[in-house]
Order: sequence, then structure tokens, then C-alpha cells
Amino acid sequence: MRLILLGPPGAGKGTQAQRLVQKHGIVQLSTGDMLRAAVAAETPIGLKAKDIMASGALVPDEVVVGIIADRIEEPDATNGFILDGFPRTVPQAEALDDLLKQKRLKLDAVIELRVNESALLERVETRVAQMRERGEAVRADDTPEVLSNRLASYRAQTEPLVHYYSDKRKLITIDGMMSIEEVTEAINKVLAALAEADSAKEAKKDAKASAKRASVRKTSAKAKKAPAKAAKAAKKTARKAAKATAKKVAKKAKKAAKSAKKTVKAVAKGRKKLAAKAKSRAAAPKKGKSVSKGRKVAKKAAKKRVKAAKRLTKRR
Ligand code: ADP
Repeated sequence: MRLILLGPPGAGKGTQAQRLVQKHGIVQLSTGDMLRAAVAAETPIGLKAKDIMASGALVPDEVVVGIIADRIEEPDATNGFILDGFPRTVPQAEALDDLLKQKRLKLDAVIELRVNESALLERVETRVAQMRERGEAVRADDTPEVLSNRLASYRAQTEPLVHYYSDKRKLITIDGMMSIEEVTEAINKVLAALAEADSAKEAKKDAKASAKRASVRKTSAKAKKAPAKAAKAAKKTARKAAKATAKKVAKKAKKAAKSAKKTVKAVAKGRKKLAAKAKSRAAAPKKGKSVSKGRKVAKKAAKKRVKAAKRLTKRR
């Protein structure tokens, strides 16, 4: 499980983080603790962060992002982690998104502990008193003046993360004004519901995947049958084509026969015509003779008429 605890100083993040560590066997990654350790060890990062932290301002993003990137690589973080005090700015949240994406890790939830600001000073004062009682070193930034700076940093730079994660549907807001026990209970309830929803989602995904596998099997069986099917279809098409061609050929032959018949008929008709012509031509000479005979008769009659006329003129 990978969680982020979000809330202003004194909201109870550290307390709840420790309880979650015990319940879920995951590690708590507190940038505040890591930076304080670096300050104590006087590492280069510690030296850089010391004064910034003492003033209540935020250490540069690249410093804390670098620390977290290295820390989540450690073997004890593979099971999951609770980020406490990180991310504290939107660029840090974006860098974390990139880191998780690179490692193909999922962020389960961001738990925001919401508290009244007026209660925070009192809580921090109580904490300081308890630490003194236990003989522990008091944090340099646990003074009323620095606390108001830390609150101002929270409001300006960290609170926008509430929207950032609610937009990503990761935000779970818990009333941090309840007792420590009640807050723990509320967190556990929400996480249990989330786990249930997750396993339901997983089951759905599995069911979908096995349905897909089944459909793939079906498809591949179909694919196996496909060549035979295709061959059958090709055969059918060929048969159809052959049938169509035969039909076409027959039609053509019929047409040719018809046209041949027509030609024969035409030839016969032509022949008949020719024969008739020949016949009429054979009969024609008789007609010609009678014509010339007529002409001769007419000529003879004309000659007679000329002779008679000559006779008449002679008589006169
Ligand atoms: P708080 O108890 O106020 O939440 P922390 O113990 O988480 O504070 O951190 C203490 C100080 O360490 C901060 O005031 C800040 O200067 C520095 N710090 C811790 N985490 C971050 C961070 N993610 N980004 C920048 N500065 C940080």
C-alpha cells in the first residue's frame, strides 16, 4: 500500500503514520525526520536545510525530491510506504507522480487530516511540553512564531495539493479534530473500503481478461477453420462463375444460330428474288418484240397516212 498523509503541522500525521506502519507492515517516510537527521549528521543537504527549516520555510523541491527518489528505492519500501510531509508543493507532487510512473507503482490514497487552525498552536505546545517531560530535544521550529510561519507555508504551498489529489480522485478527507483513536478508526475504515473496492476491481478485471482469453480461443478456432471455409467459398464462386460463363456461351451460340438462320433466310430470299428477276427477264423479250411490232405497225400506218396525204396533194 502506498499512502500520503496530508495536513498542517500538528494535524497528527506522525501519530497516525506510526499506527499505519504497525497495522500494514509498511514504512513511514517522513521528509521532516530525514531532513532533521541530515541536519544532525551535518551532511551537505543538512547544512543547506538547517536554517530554512529553523525559519519555518520550505526546503527547495529538488532537495526533497532527491531524498524521496533515493528512499523509495530501498528494499524496505517495496512493500509500500506512507509519505508524511511529502509532497508539500505541487511540483513535488508532480515529481512523485513521475517517480511512481517510472517504477510502475500505484498510489492508493491521499489522506488529508483536516483540523481547525486555532487548535494547532495548542497541540504543538502540548507536544513541546511532552517532549521536555521525556527529556527529548525540542525541535527548533516548534515555537509559536515559527509555527505561524509553518502554517503560512502550508496554506500557500501545500493546501493546493488538496485540489490536486481530489482532481485525481485520490483524496480522502478525515476529521483530524477527533480523538487519536477515532481518527485511526476512520482511516482504517476508509482503507478497508478502498481495499474491498480494489479487489472487486481486480476480480472484474480478471473476469474480463478470462472472457477475452475465451473469445481469443474462439477466434483462433474460427481462424483454424477459416482456410477450409475460404476454399469452400472459392469453390462456390468458381462454380457460379463457370455456370455464368456457360450460360453466356449458350446465349451467344443461340444468338449466332439465330443470326445464321437469318442469313440463310436472307440468302434464300435473295436467291428467290434473283430467280424471279431471271424469270421476268426471260419473259421480257416477248414483250420487247410486241413493242417493236407495235412500233412497226404504227410506222406502217404512218407511212400509209403519208402516202394517202401525198395522193391527196397530187389529186389537187
Ligand atoms: P510538520 O511537523 O510541521 O509537518 P515536518 O517535521 O514534516 O513538519 O518538517 C519540518 C520542516 O522540514 C518543514 O517546516 C520544512 O522546513 C522541512 N520539510 C519537511 N518536508 C518538506 C518538504 N516536503 N518540502 C520542503 N520542506 C520540507
